[in-house]
Amino acid sequence: MTIQKPLPTPADIGRYYDQMGPFLATLLGDNIHVGYWSGPEDQSSGTEAQERLTDMMIQRSRIGAGQRLLDIGCGTGRPAVRLAQATGCSVTGISVSAMQVEQANARAQKEGLSDQVRFQVADAMELPFPEASFDAVWAFESLLHMPDRAHVLRNAFRVLRPGGILVLTDVTEQHVLTDEERTLVYSGLMLTSLLRFQEYSLVVEAAGFSVEEALDITPNTRRAMVGTDKLISKEQEGISAAYGTDFQAMTFELWPKIAAIFTDKLGYLLLAAVKPA
Ligand code: SAH
Repeated sequence: MTIQKPLPTPADIGRYYDQMGPFLATLLGDNIHVGYWSGPEDQSSGTEAQERLTDMMIQRSRIGAGQRLLDIGCGTGRPAVRLAQATGCSVTGISVSAMQVEQANARAQKEGLSDQVRFQVADAMELPFPEASFDAVWAFESLLHMPDRAHVLRNAFRVLRPGGILVLTDVTEQHVLTDEERTLVYSGLMLTSLLRFQEYSLVVEAAGFSVEEALDITPNTRRAMVGTDKLISKEQEGISAAYGTDFQAMTFELWPKIAAIFTDKLGYLLLAAVKPA
């Protein structure tokens, strides 16, 4: 969690996820994304809320058995496995972290899905797939790490067949960050850039897509980071054993601030778009 300048490259992001796997698993479980709560009365656990957001991605993907989906930024494969189980589609997942890809393939194998769900190391900036080779593309809370969002969206457009669907979620800059907040949250969450909700659809349309739905789900995801500071203080010993006392001390001091900025200043978007037929 050092302040990193210049901005992290895909190789840096890969190293981060290679190293931070156990830390992120402590914070978030198997899914490396926020949860969706229907309202203040919703008592769902963090995991239940995360799976609900995955289900919202699945519903919008309009994909079925025999069809192919590319999951850009697959994490350790939990969302892709849930998608394949729900729809029968085939999934190719990519990540810049070799460790994640290994874990994700092990997960698919454990679920008996090795033929249907495959993960590989690849950089979304240089997608190694032919034109029109997928029926749907996901970028599930991954674009925030990429050096050039517009370029990745154009790549996604290229590998989708005409009529194919793009579904993504992303963190947005809901309230303008101060320089200090920006430095902290960018380095803490390995961000490369953030868009405002209002400009997001324009960026997606500039890549050739027609946006079908753009939802500002900030209020539903606000709870995601709440309590993570307490979790971290509970896990002090494990964190220090895994990462050393410097990291442990830094996390202990900085994470509550990062979590507070996330909760108070950042937003969250779910977007579905189609490549015109
Ligand atoms: N979608 C997953 C993981 C989200 S974490 C989930 O919801 O659980 C962000 C993911 O984006 C990580 O897997 C990271 O390796 C991936 N990622 C970041 N930059 C990338 C890039 N340039 N190319 C491919 N994957 C990338």
